[in-house]
Amino acid sequence: MAMKLTFLGTGTSTGVPTIGCGCEVCRSKDARDKRLRCSSLLEVDGKKILFDCGPDFRMQAINANINWIDAILLTHGHSDHVAGMDDLRTIPYAKYHWHLPEELEKGEVELPKINMYGLKRTNDSVRKLFFYCFPKPDKTGPHYTGMLPLLTLHDLPEPVSVFKVADGISVLPIQAMHAYLPVLGYRIRNFAYLTDLKTIEESEVEKLYGLDVLVLGMLRHNKPHGSHLSLDEAMEIVDKVKPKRTYFVHMSHDIGFHADFHDLRYHKSGVVGDFPVPSNCNLAYDGLEVEIAD
Ligand SMILES: [Zn+2]
Ligand SMILES: [Zn+2]
Ligand SMILES: [Zn+2]
Repeated sequence: MAMKLTFLGTGTSTGVPTIGCGCEVCRSKDARDKRLRCSSLLEVDGKKILFDCGPDFRMQAINANINWIDAILLTHGHSDHVAGMDDLRTIPYAKYHWHLPEELEKGEVELPKINMYGLKRTNDSVRKLFFYCFPKPDKTGPHYTGMLPLLTLHDLPEPVSVFKVADGISVLPIQAMHAYLPVLGYRIRNFAYLTDLKTIEESEVEKLYGLDVLVLGMLRHNKPHGSHLSLDEAMEIVDKVKPKRTYFVHMSHDIGFHADFHDLRYHKSGVVGDFPVPSNCNLAYDGLEVEIAD
């Protein structure tokens, strides 16, 4: 069965438009130039898998009609990837469209929890940031008696290896470095999601061969950045692993207009001249839906 990917947000940590910036991209009338913080939803075998849960999650869930999430895969603990988690408290209710079955209403049965996966260091950031969601087993410690996000955090053992989510869907973690911070990307069948990275070991690049769709974080084309891939650096990975289609995410306003992306050219290290970005490499935009062949 084909998988479906919905891009919920494709912008860098500031989002586009950027607060206080009046540049032509931030003022663009093209909806494809408006970028919420980075997140995507993958539908596979009738299950919904969310990549990250940033500060725009509430609007993203409303825009994409999300009413349940079978698993959340966290890339890393930066605010633009985790800050929306408080809004996950609505999801168990949304599952029932806010009309709980009697046994749940009476509290005879517990509300379903959302399973979330990440590196221990990522999950520890979540535990710290959302301390009130994780009361100690003896019910001491800071907690709140109202509506709370119902989350089960799974620390992925290192070295990372294949694990299963949502009743048996295999996920292959991919390790990369976001400057000095270890991050994870994830491969599910012939799809991979990898954002917020600067460097990646050859052994991890090998996990990206044979993809139908690669989603890759790429900040901008005009100058390198200390913790994100530029267009030149991203294309080096693309040229190596040759996915059938690549969608870039996590762009800043520096990338220019969506409509002009294919006017940009990129450089290959050690090669003179510049090259056109191939037509199977595109900027993703918020709301874009992509079918992925199995
Ligand atoms: Zn980010
Ligand atoms: Zn701007
Ligand atoms: Zn980051």
